[in-house]
Amino acid sequence: MLGRARASQALKIRGPLVSPDSPEYETLCQWFNPEVQWRPEAFAFPLDEEEVAACLSWAAQNGKSVAVRCGGHSYVGLSGGTGLVLDVSRLVDLQLDEQLNLGAGWKLGPLMSALAERQRMLPLGTCPGVGLSGYLLGGGYGLVSRALGLGCDRVLDATLVTPALGLVQATTQDSLLWALKGSGFGQFGVVTRWRLRPEALRPVVLFRRYWPWAQAQAVLERWLEWAPRADARITSYLSLVGGREPQVSVGGLFLGDGPEWKSLRWGPPGALQEWDRSCPYLDAMQFLAGRSQNRSPAFAATSDFLSRPLAPAAQGKLLKLLVTTAPCSPQVTFDAYGGNLGSGDGAFVHRASLACVQAICYRNRNQPPGVNHDWLKRYRAELAGHYSGRAYQNYCELGRSDWKTAYFGEDWPRLVALKERFDPQGILQHPLSFQRL
Ligand SMILES: Cc1cc2nc3c(=O)[nH]c(=O)nc-3n(C[C@H](O)[C@H](O)[C@H](O)COP(=O)(O)OP(=O)(O)OC[C@H]3O[C@@H](n4cnc5c(N)ncnc54)[C@H](O)[C@@H]3O)c2cc1C
Repeated sequence: MLGRARASQALKIRGPLVSPDSPEYETLCQWFNPEVQWRPEAFAFPLDEEEVAACLSWAAQNGKSVAVRCGGHSYVGLSGGTGLVLDVSRLVDLQLDEQLNLGAGWKLGPLMSALAERQRMLPLGTCPGVGLSGYLLGGGYGLVSRALGLGCDRVLDATLVTPALGLVQATTQDSLLWALKGSGFGQFGVVTRWRLRPEALRPVVLFRRYWPWAQAQAVLERWLEWAPRADARITSYLSLVGGREPQVSVGGLFLGDGPEWKSLRWGPPGALQEWDRSCPYLDAMQFLAGRSQNRSPAFAATSDFLSRPLAPAAQGKLLKLLVTTAPCSPQVTFDAYGGNLGSGDGAFVHRASLACVQAICYRNRNQPPGVNHDWLKRYRAELAGHYSGRAYQNYCELGRSDWKTAYFGEDWPRLVALKERFDPQGILQHPLSFQRL
């Protein structure tokens, strides 16, 4: 085990270093998903690229693995491990001219507020605690993405410290930049800076509708026809919440003002409740974030993409599963693709999809571990054959035998070659790292 004094001496960084005998250690081991239970040898919080490089050299010399952490929201704890956790959250400077030049440690909530103060916006997700780096590396889908693209579509270049080649600038025309835009999981080096193309801040219309559960299939069928083909300024999701009081709702954002929205507004008849609200982008995102916590109840999740509308028989199976076989709290959300998501470079292989489908199952403290995984197994057994075979790296899961094709498609060999170039020893390790060992 790495003692505090030994670690400080060996690592020689000014940034904090937290080992198991430090008072902050137990708090840092509270992962976002309580199912994650890593207890690393130490957490390091480097203050600049030199300190990041010192951490990587120390790990290489001492035969330790490194996991990189930004917001710590990986569903399965890919930013944790048994070796050194290198946390970039101290890298949070921001400069704005035409472009945005910022440290890699920002979290989405504070970044969104900092941008709004400067009359700018980016297609970011709603959860304020998600780290910018994890989000961008995996693509980054937000509720203005059909209008403004994925988060990674806004990346102009990035600075990394790589285990093999040290400080590297990933610029246009570069395979490395291509890979950083959407392949996910931080395989090649520690990103320390991003240069991004922001958008001028614009108002939005926030909308939401709820229907009786008896109408769930009709709403799902109509949403699947409408949402991926709707005006690109509309990004919407359909949410199915299972259990004893199941709920079907559709929500989303229209990037524009109220009068423009009037002619586009959508919703099959029979809604129990519907509302539209024109407001600043930041207000909408903060409303959607609700009272988000640093820690969720224990959950397991899986994701898929649709390349054609879900067949009616599969819709029926899904709705039945949500209400009849759920001992825990399952939810299935469809995120609309299409619009301007269809084009863009980078290693994000899901652009042609109609929608991303996420199934997530929570369990409470009194329920045995595994009960939520069992529900997901039944869900996969019934539904997987109806999806495209792709999965979203930002909603990652373990134990999926098809993960290489599901996340990376035909890009896999090119990504593995980059791993060989920038991290041949596999210093950056987690359960979904590209093992060459
Ligand atoms: C509540 C919640 C809401 C979410 N909402 C959305 C959403 O709306 N849209 C969406 O697209 N995704 C969403 N996600 C998924 C989220 O984008 C991913 O989980 C993302 O990977 C989290 O990034 P992070 O930095 O917080 O996580 P971390 O756990 O810190 O990192 C995730 C991965 O990125 C790597 N990494 C992080 N920083 C760096 C770096 N600087 N250099 C190299 N590698 C790095 C880590 O090693 C790890 O493999 C959500 C997740 C949660 C838990």
